[in-house]
Order: sequence, then C-alpha cells, then structure tokens
Amino acid sequence: MSFTVAIVGRPNVGKSTLFNRLLEQRKAIVDDISGVTRDRQYGVTDWNGKTFNIIDTGGFVPDTEDIFETEIRKQVRIAIEESDALIFMTDAAIGITDLDESMVALLRRSDKPVFLAVNKVDNPERMFLASEFYGFGFDNIFFVSSMSGSGTGELLDAIAELIPKDVDEDENAEKNELPKFAIIGQPNVGKSSLLNAMIGEERTIVSDIAGTTRDSIHTHYNLFNKEFILIDTAGLRKKNKEKEDLEFYSVIRAIRAMDEADICLLLIDATKGITAQDVNIFSLVTRKGKGIVVLVNKWDLAEKTTNTARDYEKQLKEKLAPFTDVPVIFISAKEKTRIFKVIETALEVYAGRHVKIPTSKLNEVMLKAVEAYHAPVIRGHPLRIKYVTQLPTAVPSFAFFCNYPDDVKPSYRNYLENQLRTHFKLSGVPIRIYFRKK
Ligand code: GDP
Ligand code: GDP
Repeated sequence: MSFTVAIVGRPNVGKSTLFNRLLEQRKAIVDDISGVTRDRQYGVTDWNGKTFNIIDTGGFVPDTEDIFETEIRKQVRIAIEESDALIFMTDAAIGITDLDESMVALLRRSDKPVFLAVNKVDNPERMFLASEFYGFGFDNIFFVSSMSGSGTGELLDAIAELIPKDVDEDENAEKNELPKFAIIGQPNVGKSSLLNAMIGEERTIVSDIAGTTRDSIHTHYNLFNKEFILIDTAGLRKKNKEKEDLEFYSVIRAIRAMDEADICLLLIDATKGITAQDVNIFSLVTRKGKGIVVLVNKWDLAEKTTNTARDYEKQLKEKLAPFTDVPVIFISAKEKTRIFKVIETALEVYAGRHVKIPTSKLNEVMLKAVEAYHAPVIRGHPLRIKYVTQLPTAVPSFAFFCNYPDDVKPSYRNYLENQLRTHFKLSGVPIRIYFRKK
C-alpha cells in the first residue's frame, strides 16, 4: 500500500513548519539540490495506524516574477499528477494572493482530493480573517496553526480516512507471493540498464503483470530457478517533457516503488560517490522496514587498484551509519558484471527479512550474549533480561522481557542488535527491538 500526500502552496505560508510537525519533529531528510529549490522534504508518518508519505514541495528561489510563478505552477502540476492527495496551504495572516488564486485554478481541475489548510490561525482574530478562504469553494477546509499544532490533528484524521487499512504483509507471504524487488536511485544512475541486464535480451520475462498502483510495471522473472517480481518505475519517466523536474519525479516514484517492494536495490553511481540524496533514500527505506542491497554501479569506470572496492565500501558505510550491516555489490549494468550476484543477494535478504527464529534458539543465543556482557546497572539495580521472543510482524521484531524496560541504554540496545546480526543472517534487513516489562 502506498499513499503519498504532497503539501503545496506559496513560499512562506508554513509548509515546512507543517511538515516537521506531521513528522513529529523528527527532522526530515532533506535533499541536497540547492540553488534551484529550497529543500524539498520527504518523510513517512503514521497516524491512527495508517502509514503515508508526506512531501513538502519546497519553494523556488526566484530570479524574476515570471519564472517564479512558472516554477510553482510546475510543482503543483507534478504534485497533482504523482500524489494521492494534496494539502494546499495558504496564509491567514496575509490573506488571498494572486498566486493562491492561480494555484486554486490548477487544483480545481485535478481529480485528487484537496485539503485546504489555512495556516497561521493562531488566535480568534485570525480565524475571523481566515473565513475569506471559504470563497475558494473547497469541501475540505482546515484552519490550522502549524506552529502550535492546533487543527493539525483534524487534518490528519481526514487524510487518514482516505487510506485503506494497511494490509498485513505476512498474509501476503503466506499466500506464497513472490519476492518483490524495486530498483531505485537517482536519474542516470543506471536503473534502466540494470533492468535490461537482468531481463533484457535473455527472454526471461514470463509475463507483464499490471502494477498494483498506476505507473509501475511488474515483471515476473524466472531464470536459473530464481523467481521474483521486479518493480520498474525507471522506464516510465516522461522523457519528452521539457525542463521537467527530474528530481521530483524520480524521488516520488522511488518512494512508491519502495512501498510496493520487499527489497530495494539502491543504485549508486561509482563515479559520483554517495550523495546526500542517496543517504536520504537509504534512510527512508530502512524507516519503512524494507530490505536493502546497495549496488555501486558503473564500476567499470572506476580506477581500480587492489584496495579500491574495500576502501570504497568502508567510506560508503561511514555515510550509511548507524545501519551498516548491508550488502554492497560493485557492478556494471553496462558490462553485465555481477548481475547474478545481485539476484542471489537480494533473495538472501528476502529470506532474512522473513526469517522466523525459533524461541528456544533465540533464547539460547541471546541469553548467552547477555551473560557475556551485562548491561550497565540501573539506579543501583542490575538489568535482568529474562527471555526474548520474535514478534509476529512483517519487519523482524524482537521483544526482550526485562525488569526495567524503559531504562535500557541505547548502547546496550545496539549491543543486542549487533549480537542478533552476528548470530542470525540479517544482513540488509532493518530490525526492531522492544523492551517489555516482565
Ligand atoms: P514554507 O516556505 O511554506 O515552507 O514556510 P515555512 O514553514 O518556512 O514558514 C514560513 C514562516 O512562517 C516561518 O517564519 C514560520 O515560523 C512561520 N509560520 C509557520 N507556521 C506558522 C503558524 O502557524 N503561525 C505563525 N504565526 N507563523 C507560522
Ligand atoms: P536511469 O536513468 O537510472 O534509468 O539510467 P540509465 O540506465 O538510463 O543509464 C544512464 C546512463 O548511464 C546511460 O548512458 C547508460 O549507458 C550509462 N550506464 C548505465 N550503467 C552503466 C555502467 O555500469 N557503466 C557505464 N560505463 N555506464 C553505464
């Protein structure tokens, strides 16, 4: 299930303030394209058990009035095309402007649900001024203060109502569904080339299945006894559109592909190294609890000495920290090197993500690890971990039952995670650890 909400509106109405609030201040991942746009932000949030992506479309830094208006209209158009619902934000302190009016004209023509959020309604006087926005004629209108948070809960309630309940991934797995892999990465990193290297000339395509959401193609792959579904969004880029906002398209589609996939194959350009944008996408994948394999593509272009790959991997992992237990493969989509290794590794990560560790084995290993290295004393009392169990969730999750669940230090939590990773094959698999009262 993938549901994406884009926040559109003039600069300075408070989009980024709302974004941060909806993500509960967990500072959003921010892209590194500066000069053209003010940070466009992407994140994932959870409200009433519904999970959805939020995009703050950012603001254009204008040269002239004309370009300014053109760029904003372009963003709104992409947001309408690519998202499932829109939050259109205006500013009660300023009132209706020409730019608001021209955005309304675009939004009225869209068939996506629009939530008008009149922002900066910090007090009753502002509420009085804000009523002019009823004139836009939107059914869904919310008077909010992004700064204080007032009204934002109602806005989220209304959005969450549109979203079907999350389907339990485990049910899918039990139905013997095939593993789903998505190839993601920035424009020109080699996504289409990798897809061709995997399925292109070899006639491995069994059938084309319509994607579960629009705009993605699912290809059933079956070769050398390996069977899975490849989710492709790369080929669907609209190459004809002049001066389109490639970054916006590619990220919004990557997010959708991520939601549909079990495992993400994240491509990085060997000649450019890992960028802030790549790191953002990586952390979004891990926050969504999807499996991940990092592919350093165009390795044929890299100057190779004996240690290059090892050094490269070391530097790469420093950027990916704290989650570094991730397979990294150096490939060339063009020369088709190590493509089969990619498939094998992705299938291993898939197996790791669906592993069910027997409770007896888990306790045998983990209680020994607890004995080997005790947690720091809590207010004069030793932390006692009595037993461990794996929870029946899609993302591998483990509950440690102990006497002071709220006081376990992050460093000890990390120790336990590392021990789990050492003893069980969880490379590329984000896991969750909980402490519960026993
Ligand atoms: P964006 O350009 O649309 O992303 O706008 P920002 O989120 O950067 O906010 C622009 C300015 O409006 C900042 O100075 C914010 O502090 C301010 N602002 C945002 N929300 C509110 C609000 O609810 N009330 C008031 N009074 N100011 C706000
Ligand atoms: P996409 O936008 O991510 O789908 O990237 P493409 O697959 O269209 O590739 C962009 C460009 O990089 C094309 O010119 C490809 O030929 C080139 N390319 C892709 N993979 C490799 C590779 O492994 N080595 C080299 N040298 N070039 C590559």
